[in-house]
Amino acid sequence: MRLFRPRKPSRRCRPQWPSLLTEMNGYVLPCLPAEHGSVLTTALNLRAWCGECGVTYPGKFVIEPGTPPPFEWAREPKNTLCSCEPRWPRLMVMFRGRWYLGHPGSHGRLVVDGASDGAFCRNCGAGFLGEMVIDLDDTSHLEKPGET
Ligand SMILES: [Zn+2]
Ligand SMILES: [Zn+2]
Repeated sequence: MRLFRPRKPSRRCRPQWPSLLTEMNGYVLPCLPAEHGSVLTTALNLRAWCGECGVTYPGKFVIEPGTPPPFEWAREPKNTLCSCEPRWPRLMVMFRGRWYLGHPGSHGRLVVDGASDGAFCRNCGAGFLGEMVIDLDDTSHLEKPGET
């Protein structure tokens, strides 16, 4: 038995880097490889890793465009009340390294626990603690604003 194994991972994804993740303010965010990185990722010295196998990404990267900013305050217990009318018009949640839209509920193809997956209201940022259904077909949050 060898106590010290080379740090090279035994199993890498093929193709490499199917998805990249980074962490900021305790939130995991999707990111993309980029030649020069961004002011944010460089200044904060963020680390990125493969969303599938966890290998540290050695290059520069940027936070994926369109990713909502981490709502730091949404984690506070008092900020779990949606101020929208009607309540919880649209939820966002990070699932397996990707952002999805969804709605409150427990009946659907993909139900996740909003509390443990960090779901929040897309409009006001309030943290959502109940069960929610991911709308797998709704990718409107991935489309660039201004384009129809
Ligand atoms: Zn990988
Ligand atoms: Zn809201």
